[in-house]
Amino acid sequence: MKSICLLGASGSIGKSTLDLIERHPDRFSLHTVVAARDVASVAAICARFRPRLAVMADPAAAQLLREQLSLAQLDTAVEEGTAAIEAAAAQATIDIVVAAIVGAAGLAPTLAAALAGKRILLANKEALVCAGALLMRAVEAGGAQLLPIDSEHNAIFQCLPEASGRPPRGVRQLWLTASGGPFRGWTREQLAGVTVAQACAHPNWTMGPKISVDSATLMNKGLEVIEAHYLFGLERSRIRVILHPQSTVHSLVEYTDGSFLAQLGSADMRIPIAHALAWPDRIDSGAPTLDLAALARLDFAEPDLEAFPCLQLAFDALQAGGSAPAVLNAANEVAVAAFLNGKLGFLQIAAIVNEALNRCALSSAESLATVLAADAQARAVAQAVIDETMRS
Ligand code: MG
Repeated sequence: MKSICLLGASGSIGKSTLDLIERHPDRFSLHTVVAARDVASVAAICARFRPRLAVMADPAAAQLLREQLSLAQLDTAVEEGTAAIEAAAAQATIDIVVAAIVGAAGLAPTLAAALAGKRILLANKEALVCAGALLMRAVEAGGAQLLPIDSEHNAIFQCLPEASGRPPRGVRQLWLTASGGPFRGWTREQLAGVTVAQACAHPNWTMGPKISVDSATLMNKGLEVIEAHYLFGLERSRIRVILHPQSTVHSLVEYTDGSFLAQLGSADMRIPIAHALAWPDRIDSGAPTLDLAALARLDFAEPDLEAFPCLQLAFDALQAGGSAPAVLNAANEVAVAAFLNGKLGFLQIAAIVNEALNRCALSSAESLATVLAADAQARAVAQAVIDETMRS
């Protein structure tokens, strides 16, 4: 029986993970549930799974949860705050940490889980994008297993031989597939008038608003290129992006002999999560099976870097190294939030990120403190650029 700590329980990765735990009560038990402030979700999870511990980042939410659990006569202990979340991820009784907190808040607990030698199912992009070198060192120092559950990276992991090293032996390049989002094939002129509702309507995956916008700008794919660089140890020039509108091939590995290995499946996050939960075993994920005959064809195309400059910005940030990926990520978060609030046009997201990268002095990303400082500076700079844009 594997004991699970779920960081980010109220999001879509959290919900998929809970579904899998419920399908396999003989294999997995939910020990700890962590969320920012969604009391209703966490209270429902406590009633359904009876975890030992619930941690809320927000103290007021923790207090409300205590009251609700007490009324429901549930004996889950409740803690609060960031230090408690880090401690929860490193508890001795935990085997598997599902790192699905969105944003920079996921960094410290993921590092704590790595140093404590856990199996980490990594969904939090920021841990690798902002602190990739730091996280990979922590994984090695702690003897942790880092298993990606982002569908692309999980696909690549599945296509690599076991224990193949970093960089993996015999690999020529990695191919990350991108659906292209709702605006695949659109020109810059067409993209100028995009609305929030259009940007959030992803054709293949159901996701939160931030990652839906990132998919629409292709920034999500850019962040994934940076993730792949740290995870698999390959340089930028050997990580390629290819548009694939069906989202059926989740990514590919090209070997030096000319072989391409791909992982295919329906667009259901329970597949990569089930793979990483049970690895090296295989378990039922509940995902619909792939109907190859109904699918009939698979399309591939080059991404349009001119219409979708966020992808190029991510390539450049990876090349620049140090804190550049952290600046890219933070500025993008601020710009996307402004877009979602109706304060920026769709095309301005890339412009804000570009300007933040120009204005921020880059540093190394060798400690959590330097990464968090770069993140904070980039947020302030991006906000200043947005304020200037709105005034002009
Ligand atoms: Mg992905």
